[in-house]
Amino acid sequence: MKSGWNGRTLIWMVLLQIGIFSFGCDNPGTQTRIKKSVAHLPEKEKIKEVKVNGDKGEHEDADEQDDNKYVKPVPQPPQDMVEDLPDSNTRYIYLTFDDGPQTGTMNCYRICKELGVKASFFMVGQHADRHLRYIVDTIRDSYPEMVLVNHSYSHAHNHYKKFYAAPAAAQFDFYRAQDSLRIPYKILRLPGNSTWSVRERLTGPHNTLRTARLLDSAGYDLIGWDVEWNFKGKESAPVQSAEQMVKMIDAYADSKHLKTRNHIVILTHDRMFAPTAASDSLYKFIGELRKNRRYVFRTIDQYPGIKRNKT
Ligand SMILES: [Zn+2]
Repeated sequence: MKSGWNGRTLIWMVLLQIGIFSFGCDNPGTQTRIKKSVAHLPEKEKIKEVKVNGDKGEHEDADEQDDNKYVKPVPQPPQDMVEDLPDSNTRYIYLTFDDGPQTGTMNCYRICKELGVKASFFMVGQHADRHLRYIVDTIRDSYPEMVLVNHSYSHAHNHYKKFYAAPAAAQFDFYRAQDSLRIPYKILRLPGNSTWSVRERLTGPHNTLRTARLLDSAGYDLIGWDVEWNFKGKESAPVQSAEQMVKMIDAYADSKHLKTRNHIVILTHDRMFAPTAASDSLYKFIGELRKNRRYVFRTIDQYPGIKRNKT
């Protein structure tokens, strides 16, 4: 009798252990995945792999892509409707699309809208000819889900050295964009450089700092980026796959190399996502990040220290 009771107890204990174990595994699953992705490369190597290598948004493409090719996936509820977990485990994602309005911008817009995530569009004044004007208006009117921000009027005509050598003219170029695009907040990104000016701290390539100082004194916040989704060729084809991008973000989530801990600014360019295959890739990338409950998408005016000065 005694030994039979002990045997049953043992079986129950084993079953209980299994139960506890599988329940306990459920939650840290995400963390395990994140650790794995960080582990597969040493931190140094990982950083090298995603090293910021400059805004390659220099080349305005003339490709006429058909935005209507985009196949509408099943809409999902906005992320705001999903229970938020604002604890120390939360990581804030700032998706930023540069150089619009251009072919591909509306794909980015629709994907973010359908997946219910927030995003920021750094637009270029001279790209907004009368045919594309409605895109600028669409983004401006989509606040607070999307925010329209300044990426200069001329995009430095893609001659960055010359542009930053004349800070007063560069400053005027941003004012012109601010005015012509009717940008609500004094938030900008310099063309061709990851220069920052937030919380009274100015950092970036030396040749941009005089321009940055002028803009900072005029009440602007300057935003660079932490991670770039690179592109190549005339078609501006995305270099990394959606899966590689997710791994990068997972690796960066706990990195000390972010401009601000726990806040990840991702640079992409609208035109990369004009072709259907590339926009599918963007959909997959955002969809995967969104599944991870620790990631919360924000617009760039919610970045820590942003003054949100109005125009
Ligand atoms: Zn650019």
